[in-house]
Amino acid sequence: MLTARDVLNYLYCPRIIFYEKVLRQRQYETYKQIRGEKSHYFFKTQAKRKTCDEWKEFLVRLFEVTVKSSRIGFWTKADLIMKKSADEGRIVQFKPSIPSFGIPFAWKVQVCLEALCAEEMGFGKFSEGYIAPYNGGKPECFELDEGMRKTATETIKKVEKLIKDENFPEGTMYSARCRDCMYRGRMCEGRGW
Ligand code: SF4
Repeated sequence: MLTARDVLNYLYCPRIIFYEKVLRQRQYETYKQIRGEKSHYFFKTQAKRKTCDEWKEFLVRLFEVTVKSSRIGFWTKADLIMKKSADEGRIVQFKPSIPSFGIPFAWKVQVCLEALCAEEMGFGKFSEGYIAPYNGGKPECFELDEGMRKTATETIKKVEKLIKDENFPEGTMYSARCRDCMYRGRMCEGRGW
């Protein structure tokens, strides 16, 4: 079963999945991950107290909920699931900040997969996914429509196929991503450097 980390890695650069899952060369911890863990610690200790106005009525709040689906082939921990009624809920992923260009595609796929698993587990239907900054800033949402759901499940299939076929994939088209990649130079020629 794939995890959120696998999906985010694949969407960052498919070669990372090849190195990790096919060649079994696991990434060592980068400064980005260390920074992410520190932020997550902050979330666990502080962010639970922060709520935005539009969530006031969602009194059932479950943090770090393990969600999984063997049908989809995915499991992870959803940062926050809130319920107002059987039919109305929110699924939220906390991130250090939200870029000015909006919610990155990879985060949408991550939250959508969480929602699909949670729905299958009986948490009710989620029509929107939320990204909330750790600092308690305004969350942003996006629609969990049929297109998004299809894209998310297809992403899982693509990652599974890459691992099964063991074909060396193209690297990311964004050369900036190679700068702090641990495979650069060690195993990978990267892009444009
Ligand atoms: S160096 Fe670049 S192309 Fe190679 S795995 Fe890392 S991000 Fe991908």
